[in-house]
Amino acid sequence: MLPVVYHPIYSDFPIPDGHRYPLSKYRLLKDYITDNLWPVTTHVPSMLNSVELKEIHAPEYVDALLTGAIPLVKMRRIGFPWSDALLTRSLTSLGGTTLTVDLALEQGVAIHLTGGYHHAHYDFGSGFCLFNDLVLAANHALKSEGIDKVLIVDCDVHHGDGTASLTANRSDIITLSVHCEKNFPSRKPDSDIDLPLQIDTGSDDYLDAFLPCLRLALAQHQPDMVIYDAGVDIHRDDELGYLAVCHEGIAKRDTAVFEACLDHQIPVAAVIGGGYRSDHAQLVPLHAELIRAAINTYYPTTWKIDNE
Ligand SMILES: [Zn+2]
Repeated sequence: MLPVVYHPIYSDFPIPDGHRYPLSKYRLLKDYITDNLWPVTTHVPSMLNSVELKEIHAPEYVDALLTGAIPLVKMRRIGFPWSDALLTRSLTSLGGTTLTVDLALEQGVAIHLTGGYHHAHYDFGSGFCLFNDLVLAANHALKSEGIDKVLIVDCDVHHGDGTASLTANRSDIITLSVHCEKNFPSRKPDSDIDLPLQIDTGSDDYLDAFLPCLRLALAQHQPDMVIYDAGVDIHRDDELGYLAVCHEGIAKRDTAVFEACLDHQIPVAAVIGGGYRSDHAQLVPLHAELIRAAINTYYPTTWKIDNE
């Protein structure tokens, strides 16, 4: 059965009324998987300790966030008001991404029902991201025997700027960002591989551009592990993304990533990434494609889940 990582706190921390963050989608996604009796094992993470966090972020930034001494201007850039509950949620979700890595290394694939905080930099956060779980996860994986190189495949519609800047001087973490060129963030430091796409690219052109790029990255860098950010804010109805990809296009993308990793026998830890609608429930079938794709790719004879 497919290992998924989830904690109820993902959808349970205080944010102001009308905030853009899709707070309830994590719980709704978990409920969808449970209600449909999808074959998963659920794993509950613990909070990450700050020692591991300080291996990738400035220790003074970590301490300022943990103690609440962080300046208001830095919290404004992150986009959340500071609270104990926010930090508990963040550290739990970071522990979730490292747990997802551990499960993927054991079982070949695992999925985290949150994650993808790619706008967090060395000593500041932005765009709803406090700490960068993708780089943290790669750094965590590299401590395992036989893992010498990790590829981060970031398919969120927004550029992985924090991930790129945090790994700029590292040859053991390779970054691939496929994103909308005219979208947040305005400054886009170089990833190892950047694939900027135009507004209204559409499903066919998206897949035609991304899939060869993915195959090339796997062949060229021969990573020992893949961390996959499966953001669905590439969807045509997303309120923060403009790539105009359809539901089926997202399903094909997720399936292609898993099939490529399985072909190369590379373990993959996936996070659900971004997806923004005022009606959070509308995001659930899109994020669920990631779980369906993993089950159908890795457990095809036992558990085939038909498309709806
Ligand atoms: Zn995004």
